[in-house]
Amino acid sequence: MNKIQKNVLLSPYTTFGIGGTAKYFAEARSVEEVKEFCDWAKKNDSQVFVLGGGSNVLISDKGFEGLVIKLKEPEDFDKFHFYAGPRNTKFVKVWAGSFLSKLIAETVAVGLTGLEWAVGIPGTIGGAVCGNAGAFGLETANSVQTVEALDCDNLTIKQFNNSGCDFCYRSSVFKYSDNLIILSAVFSFKKEDKKDIQKRLIDYAKQRTQSFGAGQKCAGCFFKNVNWKRKDINKNKLLENFPELKQFSDKPKISTGFLIDFVGLKGKKIGDAAVSDEHANFILNTGNAKAEEIMMLSGLIKDKIYSRYGFLLEEEVKLVGF
Ligand SMILES: Cc1cc2nc3c(=O)[nH]c(=O)nc-3n(C[C@H](O)[C@H](O)[C@H](O)COP(=O)(O)OP(=O)(O)OC[C@H]3O[C@@H](n4cnc5c(N)ncnc54)[C@H](O)[C@@H]3O)c2cc1C
Repeated sequence: MNKIQKNVLLSPYTTFGIGGTAKYFAEARSVEEVKEFCDWAKKNDSQVFVLGGGSNVLISDKGFEGLVIKLKEPEDFDKFHFYAGPRNTKFVKVWAGSFLSKLIAETVAVGLTGLEWAVGIPGTIGGAVCGNAGAFGLETANSVQTVEALDCDNLTIKQFNNSGCDFCYRSSVFKYSDNLIILSAVFSFKKEDKKDIQKRLIDYAKQRTQSFGAGQKCAGCFFKNVNWKRKDINKNKLLENFPELKQFSDKPKISTGFLIDFVGLKGKKIGDAAVSDEHANFILNTGNAKAEEIMMLSGLIKDKIYSRYGFLLEEEVKLVGF
């Protein structure tokens, strides 16, 4: 099938600018194409990995030994379907390959509030739903009504309501189900004065640029913040032994950026991989970093945190092909 290319370098498809080749690679602009590629993968006994904007993945230097399906924005496709919900609610159905930034722009332009907090998060709707992207204490799950996904095992389309998505902190049922490809999602918005929404949008955008400069090669926060509710976390003991954690005692999570800074790793470099000076939970590719260098640096961070606090950091970025 000529839509499926062989040996395609993946680094240009990621914001890290890192990653080896995909054995097979195809770009899908419609449900039919996603189905077609999954069918091909099944017949050729090939593993599938679905890629959105590539802004939350670290792909190994060895690449991926299967088919990468990249969801694209179709050029001649009406991507946003608006329809009325109860009271002053509006629903918007969006193709998973559309960029989150476009959904925000389209909705703010017509006076709909709900996703302004996500301004500046790169990536697609599929990626945001899969990882339950969030910022400023808000998350994608707050706005998702339903999700439509293709089950690649049997090529059937499944509907998920919000609770069926099993959303939790930076995760959902889709993050660990390799057979499910999100095709579209319905988001709910509320009507509000356009000027008030725009004001809030600018405010969020300002806060974001203050905490991290644009244009660097990275994948956002490398690790999840540490939830006090994790089963392996003994809050009282940690607060007793480590006074620096007291500032997080009335918050739901400990900031991982703070921990990395506290153990002295801000600015630490291994080859071209570096811990950001601005935001210690961002690992940067400062030149031509290899995935291996990023992994060595993240390993060093995990070791240092573990030896001080006794818990392991969990990756927020999806590791592919390791
Ligand atoms: C500068 C910068 C700032 C960031 N700030 C934030 C932030 O504030 N908050 C935040 O949460 N994240 C942030 N991120 C991380 C990232 O942008 C988000 O997680 C984003 O939602 C990922 O979307 P994506 O399309 O790029 O996903 P990808 O990186 O392409 O994929 C991520 C995961 O989603 C899966 N996936 C993608 N599309 C689909 C689909 N259609 N069906 C099933 N699975 C799918 C992939 O298989 C993979 O497991 C930031 C990243 C950068 C580079």
